[in-house]
Amino acid sequence: MCAADRPLLVVTDAGARLVRRGLVAPGDAARWHGARVVVFRRGPVVCELPAARVDAPPRAPYLPRHSQPARAHPVCHPRARRFAPRMTLALYNTLTRRVEPFQPLAPPRVTLYTCGPTVWNYAHLGNFRTFLFEDLLRRYLEASGYDVFHIMNLTDVDDRTIKAARAAGTTLRQHTEPFVRAFFEDRDYLRLRPAHVHPRATESVPAMIVLVRRLLDKGVAYQGDDGSVYFAIDRFPSYGRLSGLDRREIKVGARVASDEYAKDDPRDFALWKKAGPDDDAVGAAWDAPFGRGRPGWHLECSAMSLHEIGTRFGVETLDIHAGGVDLIFPHHEDEIAQSEAATGRPFARWWLHGEFLNVRGTKMSKRFGNFLAARDLREQGVDAAAVRLLFWQTHYRKPLDFTDEALAAAGEGVRRLGEFHARLAAEAGKAGRGEGRLAELAARFETAFRAALDDDLNAPQACAALFQLAHAGNRALDAGAGGAAAAVAALERAMAVLDVLPTARTPEPDLARWVETQVAARERARKSKDFKEADRIRAALLARGVELEDTPTGTKWRVV
Ligand SMILES: [Zn+2]
Repeated sequence: MCAADRPLLVVTDAGARLVRRGLVAPGDAARWHGARVVVFRRGPVVCELPAARVDAPPRAPYLPRHSQPARAHPVCHPRARRFAPRMTLALYNTLTRRVEPFQPLAPPRVTLYTCGPTVWNYAHLGNFRTFLFEDLLRRYLEASGYDVFHIMNLTDVDDRTIKAARAAGTTLRQHTEPFVRAFFEDRDYLRLRPAHVHPRATESVPAMIVLVRRLLDKGVAYQGDDGSVYFAIDRFPSYGRLSGLDRREIKVGARVASDEYAKDDPRDFALWKKAGPDDDAVGAAWDAPFGRGRPGWHLECSAMSLHEIGTRFGVETLDIHAGGVDLIFPHHEDEIAQSEAATGRPFARWWLHGEFLNVRGTKMSKRFGNFLAARDLREQGVDAAAVRLLFWQTHYRKPLDFTDEALAAAGEGVRRLGEFHARLAAEAGKAGRGEGRLAELAARFETAFRAALDDDLNAPQACAALFQLAHAGNRALDAGAGGAAAAVAALERAMAVLDVLPTARTPEPDLARWVETQVAARERARKSKDFKEADRIRAALLARGVELEDTPTGTKWRVV
């Protein structure tokens, strides 16, 4: 199908990009059954949708990054843009145990799947360390010119959610819904870029049933005498490759139905669990050709990721799959087994894993009284920028110890960066200072910053370069150096990745009105050369935590 007069199909992100660039009118983007964005035009075929996918149910459109709702954000400077595209990023791949040059299947597109939270309870700070490392990965890919499509699932049915709903005497949906909302609040608090899709397991059961069917047809799955369907790991020769498991340890025919089982104990795992009374009581059972039941946790991630990339891009291989190290075995091992046995293709090209978070010296747990939820920090008034900076200061593949002292130090670092940014921005507003020492420092900083992140996301080194810039930049500002505009642009490009400037404090409406009247009164005093009154007003404002700055375009104020 390549005749010039046939309709051109531009699917998903490619179509959105063409619309955005004004090459294709939005009116030409027709709906075509299950396709996300399909553009019919005359010309060569760019991407043909697989025939099998045409009848998929319609779904919500994929919004390209720029059309996602804006969030209050300290970095919004018009000069801040992406880095020039380069392909020198190298990432550690758990699959090969090497740092390898990153190359996606169909650049600039990168498909990224990250295992999302199990919404039986609030996500804890250890979970958010993983999500933050994934945010760094996504932001740096985007800053490097890639068009990332990020999928993060929500596990809203598994052993734990069912148990918790049963204990609370509610349905699964009633129990998980508040935790889904809480997760999104925490995500926004910690400034994580929202995934493009957050598929929920309970809404993806048809795709899971299809996957189980495929595995049964291929003879790598079987129905046990208990009515559940299991994956036969001895039928999948590369089982254990990701985790480095010794295949001799595999217990042929031994089965486990639980979602969580002992580490290093490889057994046939349940793909589909026969429904029990608790499952039906909470609304966690679905009819399937192989019996009424519910999906196993491992199956959920395989089915959701394959469904998303299959229907949108017509592929069966992810560019990157990421998660915490605790998921390598058995969860990710089982995801690989199910997906590759079904498709016959590699499931993911890069496997990235973030290390644990310890709190005050020990692995976080409710038992040790060091269990921290992200919302605890928010309620304590901790600036998310400080949490982010603290996490960036340890490489994602090293364990991180979270202590009050380290958090306070990160808060101080954030404050210094905020001050430096404000000084630079004020200086950049002045005319006639294009060249100079600050521009040189900025160029040197950007080279070091990118070299650090290109090297398997070495954020600690990127942060060191950032503080070096702040230190040398402040001295240059003291000496009246030029080049502030270039420096502020470089800083803001870096902030699009790290996002560690202090959260802007928004004043109460009453305070804002009062400040405006005071600023106007001071302006009148200055015009009539009553500088004593002008100073008095400035001092009165400062006493209420309001700082003034006189600029060529008028007096600006901010809450400090
Ligand atoms: Zn998963």
